[in-house]
Amino acid sequence: MPWTYDPNNIFARILRGEIPNKTVLDTAHALAFHDIRPLAPFHVLVIPKGAYVTFDHFAAEAGAEELLDFHRAAARVCAMAGPEGYRGITNAGAFGMQEVPHYHLHVLGGRVLGRLVDPA
Ligand code: 5GP
Repeated sequence: MPWTYDPNNIFARILRGEIPNKTVLDTAHALAFHDIRPLAPFHVLVIPKGAYVTFDHFAAEAGAEELLDFHRAAARVCAMAGPEGYRGITNAGAFGMQEVPHYHLHVLGGRVLGRLVDPA
């Protein structure tokens, strides 16, 4: 996938403080906040503070400190989902139906979440 970052995407604007959010965790390299249209009782987005478009972009190009801090933050958010489990989802590109072109991990929980994807 091409990794052309749009600095005016909505999560970049959240990171710049231009748009409010309900933060649950703020670390050196990651921010976690409630999704504005929750699809489950617990639905939090974890994003890196760096300019990455997708998971594969972040995994390929982020530095070791960013990678560690982001995943430690994600682990803390997963724990917030509760002891009965969660689902982590990341969408990329057109087939993934990615809406916001800044890498984000959805962490969903609080109910049984159904099958992984709808059969085509
Ligand atoms: P995607 O489809 O890109 O994986 O998911 C983007 C997510 O961002 C959606 O679940 C959508 O509800 C959420 N979202 C879009 N705009 C905003 C916003 O301004 N604030 C917050 N907190 N979430 C947003």
